[in-house]
Parts: sequence; C-alpha cells; structure tokens
Amino acid sequence: MQGLNQILIDREKRHNLIHSLTKDYNVITVKANVAGGCKNIYPSFVLSNYYANLIYKKWGYKPIIDQNSDGICYIFTLKDNINYKEYTTFLEEQTPLGRLVDIDVHLKNSQSSVSRNIARKCFLCDNPAFVCGRLKSHPISLLNDFLTEKTRDFFRREISKIIKESLLCELELENKFGLVTKTTSGSHPDMDYFLMQKAQDSIIGDITESFFIGLKGNDPSKLMDVLRPMGLECENNMLKATNGVNAYKGFIFISMILLPSLGYALKEVNKGVDVFEISKILASHKSVVAPLNTFGYGAYKDSFFGVRGEAFNGFSTVQKASKALNSNSLHKVLCTIVGDIDDTVLLKRAKSFERYLYFKNMISCVDTTNTAELKRVTEICVENNISIGGAADILCCGIMINKLKQLFYF
Ligand SMILES: [Zn+2]
Repeated sequence: MQGLNQILIDREKRHNLIHSLTKDYNVITVKANVAGGCKNIYPSFVLSNYYANLIYKKWGYKPIIDQNSDGICYIFTLKDNINYKEYTTFLEEQTPLGRLVDIDVHLKNSQSSVSRNIARKCFLCDNPAFVCGRLKSHPISLLNDFLTEKTRDFFRREISKIIKESLLCELELENKFGLVTKTTSGSHPDMDYFLMQKAQDSIIGDITESFFIGLKGNDPSKLMDVLRPMGLECENNMLKATNGVNAYKGFIFISMILLPSLGYALKEVNKGVDVFEISKILASHKSVVAPLNTFGYGAYKDSFFGVRGEAFNGFSTVQKASKALNSNSLHKVLCTIVGDIDDTVLLKRAKSFERYLYFKNMISCVDTTNTAELKRVTEICVENNISIGGAADILCCGIMINKLKQLFYF
C-alpha cells in the first residue's frame, strides 16, 4: 500500500505530463479503475493493457507507459482531428469490462479532459460512480474483489479461446508430413482428430491458469517452482483423457513458459521488457536444465537440444514463426521450422541420425505452393512412419503469440 501523499504527488506529476503533451497533441489516457491506496493490483495490468491495445489497433499510435504509485497509465499522443471520444465512450460503455477502466480524452491546448455526456455508473450498484465515491458507499475490498473477479473471468475465457483456436488452426492443416489432421491419422495410428480435440480440452484450463501465475508473480526465476508441478499435472490430465497417448507434451512445456512470461511482462511493460527474455529466465530453472531422459538426448546431447534448447534461447523459432506467419502460408512456416529446430519426435521416428537429416531436408525443402508435392512428401513420410511433432508444437505457439498480440499490447 502506497501512502496517500505519494499517490497525490504522482498524480500531480502525471497530470503535468499530460498537460505538457496537450500543447502538441490530442491525448488519450487509459487506466484501470482501482479503488483505495494500492493501485498496482494485478488485474489493473491486464485491464489497462487490453484497452490500450484496442486504442493502439484503432489508430496505430504507440503509447507512452507511465507507472507509479497511482497505477499504470497508457498515454497516447495523437495528431489527427477526429472524434476520439466516440470510440472511447463506446469502449467504456459497451464493452464487457468498460466500466472497470477510465479512458480519458484530452484535446490539444485544453486544460482538462473532455467530459462525458452521461455520468459513469458505479459498477456495484448502478448509482452515479461519483456519488458512491463521495459517500464511500462500498468497502474498497468489495470494489476491488469485483474488479478482480470480472477481469479474471474475462481473460480466462479469452486466453482459453486463443489456445483452442491456435491448436485447431494447426490440427486442421492438411498434408502435414505424418501429423494428425481432420481427415487422417498420418503416422499416428493411435491418434485421430477427435482424440486430439479431447487432449486439447484437457490441457487448456491449466495452460490458461499459468498466465495468471506469471501475472501475479514477483520473481520470474521462482515462477517455475509453481509451474513445474502444474505442468506435470497438465500432462497427466492429457494422458488420462487420451488413454496414455502423448498428444501435446511439447506444447504444454512451451506454452506454460510463454504464457506466464507474458503475464509477468505485462506488469513491466513500461520498462520495455520482452516476453521472450522473461521466458529465458523461466527456462534457466533447475527443472528445465536437469538431465533429460527423453529419446535422443543420450546419443546426441552435445548437439541435439530439442524443445529445451529452444527454451534456453528464448524460443527464437517461435519468435521467427510468429513473424513469418504475417506474410507466409502455414505450410511454408511449418517447413521452415522443420529446417530450423532439433525435432525429437522426428529423430525418434527416423531411428538414425542420417535418416533424421534426410527427412528433415526433404520436408524443409518442399515447394509449399505445390499441393501435389505436399501430398507426395506427406505420403513418403507416412510410408516411413515419419512425423514432425516438435515442429508442430512450435507452429502452434507461433500462431498463439500472434493471437495474443490481438488481445494485448506487447
Ligand atoms: Zn455504488
């Protein structure tokens, strides 16, 4: 809890900053509506970031991010002369969490923000918010519990939806070099489209929750203490749902580092911290560094690092894939990933390092614009019991990162 004095001092500083910016710009500020003396509670970081991202997507200007004892505030400086208030009022009044944020418009050369036509309602009782504020009608804890619960519910739904869509996007891609699709089991006779869906539905809850672990955590180097047992539990739930078939072990591992890293990064977005840099800190945990017993590690441990190697370098192929997806087909990105990573699934299936390199080369060099060629190489993969599960996990995560960028500013 910050002293009230400090909050007033910081508020004044922020006011002066905004005022100085209005000499040259129209200014929009976005902050969460947190009651009481502790403004930096975890829901405030997601709420303000989410609405800031909507403003960013709408007009394309990057915000200044001001963080102090009065909470985090996204400040947009805009040059155009348009009716900003129309959209910000829509966001405040018509979107599910709009009542929980303040989005103020300060016009160029003006002393104060543009007033609202309708007084804002208290989110607990529908009276005008300023009345409840003045009368202190509700205990601070009740107001903030309400804000926390609404925020959690909303983002739990949104993030779960993104994970599901990302996994489906990969799963429904056809001609995929031995991987399961909607119409074929590929090189996996023990799996099919429906089993993959069952597996997905069994893991999404835990993976979503890992985002909040990061968001609430204070030290990224300690997050894995909580995440590791959660990850194992998540794997067990998947194996129960699939009767022992491993459908998404790699995806669970990667996403349960990336999502908490994102949650954590949203709290320090003002310092310009990078999600992938945070993920490196998580991956330096002893549970990730510990000796491996998966296939392939023993024989090639000096050069073959699999998904853990990816984690140590901050998932560079996930980053690369997420960028490439903006201008390339899913097949093109998938084949590039195959060429870039150490895929333990492919190594296991190939049975020798020479055959591994042979298939890795064949798949990464396919002309992905030629469907007949994609079909032909896929047939060869299935005939030889080849699959590229490791690359598929990276592709899913690249898709997921891009969808998360639609939700959050990072
Ligand atoms: Zn009220």
